[in-house]
Amino acid sequence: TIGMIALGPDGKLAGSCTTSGLAFKMHGRVGDSPIIGAGLYVDDEVGAATATGLGESIIRICGSFLIVELMRQGRSPQEACEEAVRRLIAKNAKDIKDIQAGFLAINKEGEYGAFAVQKGFTYARHYNGGKDLLTAGYKM
Ligand code: ASP
Repeated sequence: TIGMIALGPDGKLAGSCTTSGLAFKMHGRVGDSPIIGAGLYVDDEVGAATATGLGESIIRICGSFLIVELMRQGRSPQEACEEAVRRLIAKNAKDIKDIQAGFLAINKEGEYGAFAVQKGFTYARHYNGGKDLLTAGYKM
């Protein structure tokens, strides 16, 4: 999955994500990426978040929506991503050693954060000076 969230020069937030799903997935499986609130959520008044990893674990906590709601309540993007990971671990405790899931978030101020269950989660940030453009994407 590649998820991207951006803050444009006009102060507007945007997001997108694309995925091939999981390897050897069951025919007809729907992962988190096409479900708004799970793999991606953008609220232009607050912030945006996107996810990668085991979709079922992300859907279970409405991961991206949860992060945006936590930011609405005053958490920073980094704090919100960490709380979502804590929530995901709690809900999937039995299988957690086999699960990777990661989140990326940005708020209206252009602050951003990322966190994942396991090591090996990376992301990229593009910043085009001043208030121009901030985009971030990631790859597991
Ligand atoms: N999130 C995707 C899914 O569960 C998989 C991935 O991130 O590679 O369909």
